[in-house]
Amino acid sequence: MTHRFLPIIYAILFSLFFAKESRAQKPNILFIVGDDMGYSDTGFQNCKDIPTPNLDALAASGVVFTNGYVTGPYCSPTRAGLLTGRYQQRFGHEFNPGGNIQGLPLTETTIANRLKELGYETGAVGKWHLGAQPAMQPQKRGFNEFYGFLGGGHSYFKNSGILRGTEQVDELDYTTDAFGREAVSFIERHQKNPWFLYLAFNAVHTPMDATDDRLAKFTHIQDKRRQTYDAMMLAMDEAIGKVLKKVAEVGQEKNTLIIFISDNGGPTMKGTTMNGSSNFPLRGGKRTTLEGGIRVPFVLSWPSHVKPGKYNLPVIQMDLNTTALVAGGVKIKSTMKLDGVNLIPFISGENSHAPHEALYWRFGEQMAIRKGDFKLVRYDTNADTNTGKPQPVTAVKLYNLKEDIGETNDLASAMPGKLKEMQRQWYTWNATLVKPLWGGEPGDNDGPEPGASKRK
Ligand code: CA
Repeated sequence: MTHRFLPIIYAILFSLFFAKESRAQKPNILFIVGDDMGYSDTGFQNCKDIPTPNLDALAASGVVFTNGYVTGPYCSPTRAGLLTGRYQQRFGHEFNPGGNIQGLPLTETTIANRLKELGYETGAVGKWHLGAQPAMQPQKRGFNEFYGFLGGGHSYFKNSGILRGTEQVDELDYTTDAFGREAVSFIERHQKNPWFLYLAFNAVHTPMDATDDRLAKFTHIQDKRRQTYDAMMLAMDEAIGKVLKKVAEVGQEKNTLIIFISDNGGPTMKGTTMNGSSNFPLRGGKRTTLEGGIRVPFVLSWPSHVKPGKYNLPVIQMDLNTTALVAGGVKIKSTMKLDGVNLIPFISGENSHAPHEALYWRFGEQMAIRKGDFKLVRYDTNADTNTGKPQPVTAVKLYNLKEDIGETNDLASAMPGKLKEMQRQWYTWNATLVKPLWGGEPGDNDGPEPGASKRK
């Protein structure tokens, strides 16, 4: 062989090596979402009565965001924001869908659609709550596989309505355990390809169903609801532990981008799906635009790319969509109209600016804008009266969250200039939104709400 072939041979070897390399390096992406979790109900958020060693290990392996938000105080809207990377109010998904007709509008593209196009294996396990009609089910929204239920709430002890694909399952298992098992199976079965798994527990949403063995670990907790909540949290942590163990077993620990959030704040007020959660030190809870409704436990772990630590500037769950898309090799285009940003350069310190100039919320008459340390908010007065009945919204209030995380010291009259500036900015954003496609009446429903179910 003469040396004139050498450059060609080198070129072939080079391209083969890097083709293999890029396939091997494409990260797996795992989105884990808890439901109605309190802000302070995990060890890494300073919880004392619930052991969450697996979530704590996940948090220790990655970045904990101390100002991590979701785009609303309700289940379905924030899931729509997570899976699309867009403010859901831009496409009318402001409230929980009702009945079997409403769901994530078909105009929207999910992260699963985009990753699937790049060859990712895609799976959804757990609570869907983005539409039950055939065209809106997970396997029509970019997911190759689905195991779970389509509505907003479900008994933990009944399998009626638990589907594999579109078929009712026969097996009967505590749902949190079943979802953990199915996630493990998904990871086990798809070792040859990069995968995207959306693992959305219904834990710790009502009904308050826990297994006896786990309840027995919390007999020292006097409050019955909190006792059950703790046992349900423990189950979720155990399930997550099995999933993380499987990721490690298949050798993908470093190459898997994992995020964990709650879909909204803990329901701590009468009139909401109260579950015994705690949002301490935040005020308010689910269904309000106070911090307790929208600021959530928020973790991103990706050992091969992200150093463990804390990140304190405000971020929002839509960012996790964009971050995962970029990690997976999706080219971000302006036509995607994403509101999320890739967080990696911010976490690494490469970009020292705030990821967002401001963050915005609209939930019917309630609103909020977060800009720097300040937050302007108008919220349901049920957060103050706790009568259980939806109340008129308050006047706008201004808080400095850095000094006043509990939103107790209203600065509206002391800082009228700041108030006006933020109000104007919110109205500018609001003008870019559409009217809600459904819902919006006070006390808007929270999806199917089965009563407490009997243990089998
Ligand atoms: Ca929820």
